[in-house]
Amino acid sequence: MSTEPSTNGSASAGDSKVDVLVVGAGPAGCAAALTLSRAGHTVVVIDKATFPRDKICGDGLTTSALRELDGLGLDPATVPSWINVDDVIVRSPSGREVVFPMPKDCGVYAAVSRRRDLDFALVQLVRSEGIEIRENVALSSITQNNSEATVVTDAGDTFNASYVIAADGMWSPTRKALNITQPGYRGEWHAFRQYFRNVSPRAANELIVWFEPDLLPGYAWSFPLADGTANVGFGILRDDSSYKINDMGPLWRELLARPHVREFLGPNAEPEGPHRAWPIPARVDRIALSCERTLFVGDAAAATDPMTGEGIGQALLTGRWAAEAIIANPSNPAACATAYEHSVETELAVDHRFAERLMAVLRRPLGARGAVRIAGVSDWTRRNFGRWLFEDYPRALLTTPRRWHRGMLTGPGAYRGTHAHSTD
Ligand SMILES: Cc1cc2nc3c(=O)[nH]c(=O)nc-3n(C[C@H](O)[C@H](O)[C@H](O)COP(=O)(O)OP(=O)(O)OC[C@H]3O[C@@H](n4cnc5c(N)ncnc54)[C@H](O)[C@@H]3O)c2cc1C
Repeated sequence: MSTEPSTNGSASAGDSKVDVLVVGAGPAGCAAALTLSRAGHTVVVIDKATFPRDKICGDGLTTSALRELDGLGLDPATVPSWINVDDVIVRSPSGREVVFPMPKDCGVYAAVSRRRDLDFALVQLVRSEGIEIRENVALSSITQNNSEATVVTDAGDTFNASYVIAADGMWSPTRKALNITQPGYRGEWHAFRQYFRNVSPRAANELIVWFEPDLLPGYAWSFPLADGTANVGFGILRDDSSYKINDMGPLWRELLARPHVREFLGPNAEPEGPHRAWPIPARVDRIALSCERTLFVGDAAAATDPMTGEGIGQALLTGRWAAEAIIANPSNPAACATAYEHSVETELAVDHRFAERLMAVLRRPLGARGAVRIAGVSDWTRRNFGRWLFEDYPRALLTTPRRWHRGMLTGPGAYRGTHAHSTD
């Protein structure tokens, strides 16, 4: 698919006309670009970074993210650090560890892969389908009128597009350029991440979530990677924690020294590099999802799960839904925005509101202890809680009968029949 030089008479050498310009080549942007291109739309993707690039993340892939990646045709074998995970271990504030087993022999329900690898593999998949990705090119300005949106980049190129998909992350420069940012907004969560090598056999293979009493409703984690390292980190709620963001540096050192964390990581664990921090936006139901010809997706739409801060699955989903709204309404921006907002409201916002209500329980150590105890009461609860935690089902499935269907609690995982990078 190629772009055409602009025909508006004022074209310069750097002018291009394209159906959709996607700003940002993370999971949200790649999902949108692939969906649009496969439906016959011309798409160009720009990203200010050069891939492979790092993204500060826990690297955990939920069932929902895995199903989307599978649907896009992403082959786990192209992601070197990819590891499938069989069980999710949760340490209650009381210190009790509970193992939540993922279903076996019917696909992948949980996996971990470095974002550096995952996002590069997605970018390569996009390129392999003939979609143009311009790296090291940032959006500088955007204007919109009745017939098109015009984006000017820092490389001096101009794109005239019917639609723009803003997949440009938490700080969305597109949102800023359109002057619709929420003053003072800095995300709901703030999280640290650090890679460790020479970790214990447990840390190299097991995925654990620590509900530390002082972090609630935040938590800490250690996620294994295929190269024998672990992604370790913690997140707190910016406005609902006994800690301030400035406390997080000293707190991180103290957290790593806690006996159960030290024991899990093992005596020889050493940091691969410095820790890094980034905010996580989780207010998809309270933020503008569109502005004239522009649709916001992924972190630019604040679409992460308010309870866990997971956002890769939500980025892939919103990217696809925005693309589908454009495909259904190629020349009607108002109808397109309505269709996209409807998908987000009925499939995501309803779950996020439910998750926010649950957080009132997790906020207190007794509530979190009770939740882990109830979840661990029988094989059935353990199996289903693990799947629910890893987004196999929508968070609010049980309270939204319109989404009930036969087999809704026994759906297969992703990548059935393939065993790439399996821990088996
Ligand atoms: C510490 C931490 C841990 C997390 N752990 C998990 C986890 O384990 N599992 C999970 O599912 N989620 C996790 N998340 C959330 C997850 O990382 C995000 O929700 C996800 O990356 C959102 O994807 P995206 O495509 O919307 O944005 P991004 O992945 O941020 O991609 C945005 C892209 O836009 C580009 N860009 C920015 N500005 C411009 C510009 N001006 N012009 C062009 N391009 C631009 C950037 O270079 C980038 O490539 C975590 C987040 C943090 C901070």
